[in-house]
Amino acid sequence: MNGFEPTKYVLETVATGRCFEDAGWTLADPQCQEPSLVRAIYAKKQLAFGPETRGIYQFADWMPVRRMLKGSAPTITYRSEKLAARLKLPNLHIAFSGWWPEIGAAMSTCSFKETEAYSVCARIPDGEKRVLVVASAGNTARAFAKVCSENNIPLLLSVPEENIDALWFEKPLNDCVKLVCSPRGTDYFDAIALGDAACSSPRFFAEGGAKNVARRDGMATTVLSAAKVLQRIPEAYFQAIGSGTGTIAAWEANLRLIEDGRFGSHKMKLFPSQNVPFLPMYDAWKAGSRALLPMDDEKARLQALEIDAKVLSNRRPPYSVKGGVYDALCDAGGDIECATNADIAAMQQLFLDTEGIDIHPAAAVALQGMINAFEAGKLPRDSVALLNVTGGGQARFQREHKCHYLKPSLIGNASDPGIVEKIEKLFR
Ligand SMILES: *Cc1c(COP(=O)(O)O)cnc(C)c1O
Repeated sequence: MNGFEPTKYVLETVATGRCFEDAGWTLADPQCQEPSLVRAIYAKKQLAFGPETRGIYQFADWMPVRRMLKGSAPTITYRSEKLAARLKLPNLHIAFSGWWPEIGAAMSTCSFKETEAYSVCARIPDGEKRVLVVASAGNTARAFAKVCSENNIPLLLSVPEENIDALWFEKPLNDCVKLVCSPRGTDYFDAIALGDAACSSPRFFAEGGAKNVARRDGMATTVLSAAKVLQRIPEAYFQAIGSGTGTIAAWEANLRLIEDGRFGSHKMKLFPSQNVPFLPMYDAWKAGSRALLPMDDEKARLQALEIDAKVLSNRRPPYSVKGGVYDALCDAGGDIECATNADIAAMQQLFLDTEGIDIHPAAAVALQGMINAFEAGKLPRDSVALLNVTGGGQARFQREHKCHYLKPSLIGNASDPGIVEKIEKLFR
């Protein structure tokens, strides 16, 4: 697209502070001995908001991207009136990612995973011949599928068969996108293993999850959209977490906004929430532990199947890693909250009744978590609060559009003999 200059940045290892050049798809510092995230350090300390016609790339000063892709839409932040009045939270703001034409929200896959997909896919080096691999419980797969399909980028998705109802699309997908599934009764964890198996072949490369700076800095645009509207850093941030990547990203955006100098010098308190009974980060945080508590794999799988907010079922979240969720919470302050499946139903109804749009079960978890934090007196009620409604408008979008479903090309487990060769064949 015309007039786009990629922004300049280097990578910094959080654990050691070492700065180095991005070799193209660097996910970790090869010289660092301990598990640590790397971070993008942008040359531009002050963010110039680009034209809104650029969609999410209006924030590209702080995105590690080489180009702009077609079809992106930003998160929309607005000041809540009805929900704010109902909850007696006079300074409640909502960062909405999803489909809600009346406020200008135009993400047709209806979640903030679009922010990461547009960022990650725009980071891919020119001339990359390998196939990008993304394992997901649903929303990430949908977002990457849309972006790759519309921009002709080869993509292998790995999703639990249990979750394929999540793979609906506005348009039939370009066949550069292929789906493989771990069988029914398996969860996200097994889909990750299947994606990892594909990546043992030189024909594929892993997206990288939380380790990918483009993923985090794409998600960080939810907070940048808030900074643009509020002209300040909020005081508290609420989000439902599965991996916690969005909350790490929100914290990193906060640190950049402090350096920018125009938005305040404070850190917003972080209140991520999980869905009962799947609570690995909640349990570790409450125990004061940097390490996740030992967990029984079979029990975790059953808990993952039980929660209504399926996207929150990550069993290996970047919690302990340097620069991860634990460090973010220690640095910024805050707490981890939780919500039950019954809370989800009530919060979805509350949001629909007040704000007037359906929200994703995960966003309902965040809303309940926010209410819990205020009820417990962890914050003054007039705090400038940012509720990240990470997904919404899906029911409405599906009512208004005829949807197409993506079918798996292959169903199997990472341990099946010959699985990698079978996956390779899909792209011949
Ligand atoms: C993935 C997802 C989350 C959780 O995001 P993380 O920050 O990666 O834990 C929350 N809400 C929705 C709608 C999601 O798709």
